[in-house]
Amino acid sequence: MPLTKEDIHKLVDVQRDDAGLDKLQAEMDVIPRRIAGLRDGLEGAKAKSAQAKAKTQTFEKKKKEKELELAAKEEAVRKHSMELNQVKTNDAFKALQAEIDRDKAAGGQIETEILEAMEGIDASRREEKAAAAECKEAEARAAAEIGGLEKELAALKARHDAMRAQRDQAASGLPDEMMRVYNHARMRGKLDAIVPVDGGNCSACRISLAPQMIVEVTKAKSLVVCESCQRILYKAEPAAKPA
Ligand SMILES: [Zn+2]
Repeated sequence: MPLTKEDIHKLVDVQRDDAGLDKLQAEMDVIPRRIAGLRDGLEGAKAKSAQAKAKTQTFEKKKKEKELELAAKEEAVRKHSMELNQVKTNDAFKALQAEIDRDKAAGGQIETEILEAMEGIDASRREEKAAAAECKEAEARAAAEIGGLEKELAALKARHDAMRAQRDQAASGLPDEMMRVYNHARMRGKLDAIVPVDGGNCSACRISLAPQMIVEVTKAKSLVVCESCQRILYKAEPAAKPA
């Protein structure tokens, strides 16, 4: 297949762009994972807030139950106090009075429990408030970070698109056979699909090349592929040209 030095240079440029595209793609790939990580991190703060809320509700429920219990005891005391006037015997009077005293004592105990529940409500409401503030702060922090990452991703994508266009433009004029060999090597994980010869060796797999092959590579008039690693071979130009 006929080739020119120009084709070789262009393919080296394409490879440089492909390497740049791979690097940009790798940078882009981590961003959605980082965003997901930030969102996961928020779940902890939300759970803490929900926990504090549930605790408040438990205390509120207990307070309500105890208030009903207290009301029942107070009602019993009121009822039995009225009955005291109607009892006929001393024993019955004493028994009823004892029951009233028991209910009053129980009522006092329930009042203490109500106070404890109220203290619990106050404490857990404070926790709730702190957790909600923490949650809000974490959300704001995460939103700012996510916003930054999304911007970063958009910028990377724009660079990727521009480089991709440049790469495709450079590749479009190259011989099909050359691109087929190049793409095949890259698809098989050989990202350096075109490599310079190094002395008498392939610079990638280090196999010693036949002298005739070196001549072909130097002439750059046809596609020369390393028989060992299937990479395209070229002769690197000396970096500094004499003025
Ligand atoms: Zn090789």
